[in-house]
Amino acid sequence: MSIKNNLNNISNTIPENVTLIAVSKTQPVASILEAYQAGQRAFGENKIQEMAEKFDTLPKDIEWHMIGHLQSNKVKYMAHFVHLIHGVDSFKTLAEINKQAIINKRVINCLLEVKIASEETKFGLSFAEVEQLLKSEELKNLKNINIKGLMGMASFTENNEIICDEFKSLKNFFNSLVKFKSFNVNPIILSMGMSGDYKIAIEEGSTMIRVGSAIFGSRNYN
Ligand SMILES: *Cc1c(COP(=O)(O)O)cnc(C)c1O
Repeated sequence: MSIKNNLNNISNTIPENVTLIAVSKTQPVASILEAYQAGQRAFGENKIQEMAEKFDTLPKDIEWHMIGHLQSNKVKYMAHFVHLIHGVDSFKTLAEINKQAIINKRVINCLLEVKIASEETKFGLSFAEVEQLLKSEELKNLKNINIKGLMGMASFTENNEIICDEFKSLKNFFNSLVKFKSFNVNPIILSMGMSGDYKIAIEEGSTMIRVGSAIFGSRNYN
């Protein structure tokens, strides 16, 4: 199957309110262009420098999503162009994003990453930590960020019931965040679902899926 066919198959089967992010990490520019020519505009990368290089080379109407774990000292390399940062899991990182957003005279959209999987290896905040962050006084000082919602990754398992439960709990928690709504907290995006589990994620209320291998084929490395 070609990239174009894979994209069309997925786009045609997901509801209109769900945004498809084509995860292009490790993929060459030619493959991204193939997806672009098929109409795809939102792409996700997990390394800041790789994303910045691709931004420089590729058409400027692409929306770039940073989906990987962030190193604060590299935020500056994407602050002028990034569309949405999915993997924010500390106040320190938010503060650095805010600082770089001010330098670039813009507001940067972020999602808080929540740890819903049982594996030790996954990054993210607990529900309690998210609430603590959203009600903190310090958050009000960050005028150049906009927290648009949450991101989560389910456990890597064949057991769909576990995946389903993890997504369900994230969706419930996401729904509870309306009480924190403010000028820089506007929770409308729930980023959950990858190649292996996006169908379950959509059933459980995802509004944004991050799909790599089901579009581009399998990767040699992560
Ligand atoms: C790589 C990656 C994806 C896409 O994974 P696939 O299984 O290839 O669809 C989605 N989200 C994050 C955070 C990733 O790192």
